[in-house]
Formats: sequence, structure tokens, C-alpha cells
Amino acid sequence: MSIDFGTDIYEEPIVAKTFLQEDTQEGSLRPKTLREYIGQEKAKGNLAVFIEAARRRGESLDHVLLHGPPGLGKTTLAGIIAQEMGVNIRITSGPAIEKAGDLAALLTNLSENDILFVDEIHRLNRAVEEILYPAMEDYAIDIIIGKGPSANSIRLDLPRFTLIGATTRAGQLSAPLRDRFGVTLRLELYTPEELCLIVTRSASILGVAIEPDGAMEIARRSRGTPRIANRMLRRVRDFAEVRGNGVITRDVADEALRALEIDFLGLDPIDRRMLGAIIANYGGGPVGLETLAATIGEEAVTLEDVYEPYLMQLGFLTRTPRGRCVTRKAYEHLNLSLPREMSENGEQLHL
Ligand code: ADP
Repeated sequence: MSIDFGTDIYEEPIVAKTFLQEDTQEGSLRPKTLREYIGQEKAKGNLAVFIEAARRRGESLDHVLLHGPPGLGKTTLAGIIAQEMGVNIRITSGPAIEKAGDLAALLTNLSENDILFVDEIHRLNRAVEEILYPAMEDYAIDIIIGKGPSANSIRLDLPRFTLIGATTRAGQLSAPLRDRFGVTLRLELYTPEELCLIVTRSASILGVAIEPDGAMEIARRSRGTPRIANRMLRRVRDFAEVRGNGVITRDVADEALRALEIDFLGLDPIDRRMLGAIIANYGGGPVGLETLAATIGEEAVTLEDVYEPYLMQLGFLTRTPRGRCVTRKAYEHLNLSLPREMSENGEQLHL
């Protein structure tokens, strides 16, 4: 019997922006302490100081804003902060808090020094956001009781809590909200060496045998993102079990990722479609994000949050005021011949 491991056995691409069914196992892979949390040395170093200082004073930690592309460890870090502070954490997200009353209920149920984690905080609606301002600043909320002329406003005091907000797009946060965070930390894409440590750690938790070369192959192809590295690990493990002897070697990892159409730099079919469309339809750019998204049938936010950070880090794509442009490196990676202007003077066309 032959088993076809084409991409169609998995309904979702590895680079999926959304939370996949398989990610439900993420909990067991999440580091629980700052020491276990690999990479992000700058953010970790700063946090360690703030946590220690707050603990010594017996106070709540200042409000923290975490930003960076999806899957880099923002939720994980929020859990670690709670653990290190020895406090409880309540987890919610911007779109889940529909009414001001929902937020008021969450806030009034917190205990002293607790953490409220709001994922996708840029998606809070205005009415809810306005409740958050006095809550963050004065640890109080104003509640309106009744309607019309008989309406009354009463002020409720809140425990001193810490708000941790996570966002993929810090630029979309309103200025009043952004200003109320005492600490802002930007998470960066991970290096292959850091991802290699993450893959090795996850493999040992999952009980998967992996050779150092196999871990490095997955790390190099997981576009700087731990969540993607962990997804790849699980899928490569399937290959190792069915096609090999269960051990993830470099060859097994390469075979599996090729079958999943992930190339040696970690680009997937959507990356290639995106670069190819800019070249084929817009002469290499510039092209506006919305136009590009419509051309390849993807959402603009997905391209911007999930695909562009890595393509820009590789130096394949640039953002200019007039739109997105591909670079000479992208043509070379896709094995496409350079336009005359690029090959003649060695310069980039549209910069
Ligand atoms: P985000 O909230 O930024 O989307 P998560 O915190 O949910 O990302 O992280 C996704 C997964 O990646 C986690 O389940 C965790 O297993 C793994 N992960 C993230 N950051 C790290 C890290 N620094 N070290 C080890 N594993 C990590």
C-alpha cells in the first residue's frame, strides 16, 4: 500500500494565521518560566528586571504591551509573567469583549495584582476601550446605571491589576491606549539556532527522536516562528514514523517539508504566489497591498501580518511609500531572469 503524503492530507497550510486543531497540543509545549523561554534576550532581560522590582515592592507590574507577528510567543510570555509574579492570569481577546459590561465584569472579578491578558488588543471596540482608560490609569471604572435623565454614574474601585496586551500591529492601537502601557516590548523573529533549541526541546517533550541535523533543517525552514517550527515538527514526525524508523534525520525532514511544498528557506506556495504575482503582473512592483491581496486571493491582513515580515527579513520584499516591490534576491530565489534594468546596473529597479 502506498501512502500519499501530499499536502491535501492536511487541510490547513503550516503557515496558517489561525489557530489550527493541532495547535491544541501547544499547551504542553509552552515554556513555563523565563529561563525555559528561548531567545528574545532583550525583552526577557528587561522583563526580568521589572518583575523583580515589582515583586520586591510588593506591587503589581506596570501594564505591558507585547507586539510582533503571530506565533512568536506573546501568549506564552504573558503566562510566564504571571507565573514569575505568582499571580493569576485571565485570558481574553479584543474581539471577544463585545460590550463595555463584558469588560467591567472581567475587571471587577480580578484580585489584587492579577493579570488580565487581552490578545489582539487592537481589535477592541471604542466603547470598551474607553472603559479601559480609567481602569488602567486610576484602577477604577465608571458605570452608568439607568437610562435617560434618571441615569446615574457610579465609580467602582478596582484592585491594582496588570493589563498585558498583545498585538500583531502596534500601529493600529489608538494613541491614548498605547500611552497607558508603561512597558512596550517588541518580539523579533527567531534565529535558526534559537529555533533549533525550541524544536529539540519540543521533540523531547513529545517523545520524538530527532538528530541535531534534523532539528536544524526544521529550524531553518520555519520562518523565524516557534509555532510554525512546532507544527513542522509534528508533521515531519508523521513522515519519520511511516517512511523511516521514527527518527527525524535531516533527510526525513527535507523529504517531508518538500512534500509539503516548503522550500529550503521556508517559503510556502503563498509566498511564491505573492512574489510571482508582483513580478508577473506588476513588473516587480510597486503594487499596493490591497491590489496584491486581491490578485492572489488572500486577505491583505494575512499577507501583512504573516507573510511580509519573513519576506522582508530575507530581503526579498521591500515596502515603499508607493507599494510593495520585490528585490533582485527574490528573482534569483525563484529562478526568474532579472529585468534588464536590474541586470544591467545591478541596482534595484524601483527603490
Ligand atoms: P503568540 O501569542 O505570539 O501568537 P504563542 O505564545 O501562542 O504565540 O506561541 C506559540 C507556540 O510557540 C507556543 O505554544 C510555544 O510552544 C512556542 N513558543 C513560543 N515562544 C517560545 C519560546 N521563546 N521558547 C519556546 N517555545 C516557544
